Amino acid sequence: MPIKNRNIALVYIYGILTLGIYFIYWGISTKNEINDEFKTDIPTGWLLIIPIANIYWLYRYTEAFVTKVKGDDDTALWFILFWLVGIIMPWIVQSELNKLADDPNLLQTRKQGRRKNDRICPNCGRVIPLEANFCPYCNKKFESYL
Ligand SMILES: [Zn+2]
Repeated sequence: MPIKNRNIALVYIYGILTLGIYFIYWGISTKNEINDEFKTDIPTGWLLIIPIANIYWLYRYTEAFVTKVKGDDDTALWFILFWLVGIIMPWIVQSELNKLADDPNLLQTRKQGRRKNDRICPNCGRVIPLEANFCPYCNKKFESYL
């Protein structure tokens, strides 16, 4: 299923009104979206109701979110943060997903993945090789780029 834009305030309101049940539903829905779009394998949401296994699930979810959706490599940092302050997780994750839901180009760039030494074209925002002297997507030329 494609990545959905969700109103973050509503995610929290539903979460509070359902005493947290909606947060689990949200976690499983976004897990499915991330797995589908990025070919990741975050495991089944049933792990969420099993002690200890839910920490493993959170790690796998965070890993996919950070490395694929955000295109960073700070998995350990975000995992600790989400574990300690889980309430911020829907806000952080959904705001990133909303960006991708609204911008097919950005989604495409993130799906291609960012390799070390690649950089982002300042003109169109796509990932381009470090040594390129023009952007292969928008043809913008770079005079000198050190
Ligand atoms: Zn460009």
